[in-house]
Amino acid sequence: MLTLERETVDFRELEHLIKGKVEFDHPMAPYTTYHLGGKAAAFVEPQTIHDLAELLRCLTHAGAPYLMLGGGSNVLFADEGFQGVMIRLGRGFQGLHIEGDRVRAKAGTKLVTVLAKAREAGLGGVEFFAGIPGTIGGAVVGNAGAKKAWIGPTVEELTIVTPHGQVKRLEKTDYTYGYRNSSLKLSGNALVEVVLRLKKEPRAGIEKKVKEYFKVRRGKQPKTEKNAGSVFKNPEGNFSGRLTESVGLKGFKVGGARVSEVHANFIINEGAATAHDVVAVMREIQKRVWKECQIQLEPEILPLGDWNWEEIKDVFWNMKGS
Ligand SMILES: Cc1cc2nc3c(=O)[nH]c(=O)nc-3n(C[C@H](O)[C@H](O)[C@H](O)COP(=O)(O)OP(=O)(O)OC[C@H]3O[C@@H](n4cnc5c(N)ncnc54)[C@H](O)[C@@H]3O)c2cc1C
Repeated sequence: MLTLERETVDFRELEHLIKGKVEFDHPMAPYTTYHLGGKAAAFVEPQTIHDLAELLRCLTHAGAPYLMLGGGSNVLFADEGFQGVMIRLGRGFQGLHIEGDRVRAKAGTKLVTVLAKAREAGLGGVEFFAGIPGTIGGAVVGNAGAKKAWIGPTVEELTIVTPHGQVKRLEKTDYTYGYRNSSLKLSGNALVEVVLRLKKEPRAGIEKKVKEYFKVRRGKQPKTEKNAGSVFKNPEGNFSGRLTESVGLKGFKVGGARVSEVHANFIINEGAATAHDVVAVMREIQKRVWKECQIQLEPEILPLGDWNWEEIKDVFWNMKGS
């Protein structure tokens, strides 16, 4: 058995450790919906739970930093990259099956697939997935939702791999969640399987709700430009997009990052934006909204990688750094 030794981490050894893809000094922009950010020292895609468990065990033993990535649709990857291992679940972690009113999905399965299969089976409760990119794993970790619906309440059971390589089953009581947050976020655990308990409902009703969700998105969100969804959480009783618009920042731009004209809570990468450009736009929005409305906007997107925390902690005041 191969082990990465503490203090002497040579990521090249990873090639012998797992069967999936292993790349070094690898650009991460193509793996995020923002399409920006630097390189990861190593990028791996394990294909089996066994390989993933062995990978986490070795990295933890060696004290090597690692981060999990799903569809990369809720993250802001640092321009400076990441001197650690980015782990994205390989194809072996995709697929689902339905058992009565339960959907058992591997964590790398795309939300669009989960929604399609639930619709087919006449299972309601996840219609709000319509138009949300990313994986079911990322959605459970971030408690994804739309309007007043969240994924959290549908979670029945989870399987994780701990940083020490143990495979553990969690009951729903072991998983806590809040607004775009959960006990699994940046915990070091890898989520590998999700069981959702949904409701048998007439197909026509499900179809109607899905169509409504799609319709709202089509009219209110940028269609083709690169983004990572809502940048800020909505403050109690208000909307971050509405506040941003009210202080006159629709279309506001720093470098290649611009506040969307379609929805002011979306910041667009025009093509050559840096992650620092996005942060600069966020900072200006927060400043102006605070000055004019005395509301402190809380980021929803997650800064991943080797950020200089001192430089961004005023913007990401709700996080400890990752
Ligand atoms: C156009 C657009 C619209 C959007 N609309 C919505 C919306 O309506 N509602 C909403 O909630 N979000 C929305 N989002 C944001 C995003 O799509 C969701 O939050 C989605 O659930 C993120 O999943 P992901 O797989 O892309 O996760 P990532 O962005 O890859 O990761 C998010 C976090 O989860 C962690 N993570 C991912 N997978 C795992 C895993 N298997 N194990 C452990 N940790 C993991 C990562 O480390 C990171 O901390 C939108 C984004 C876009 C681009």
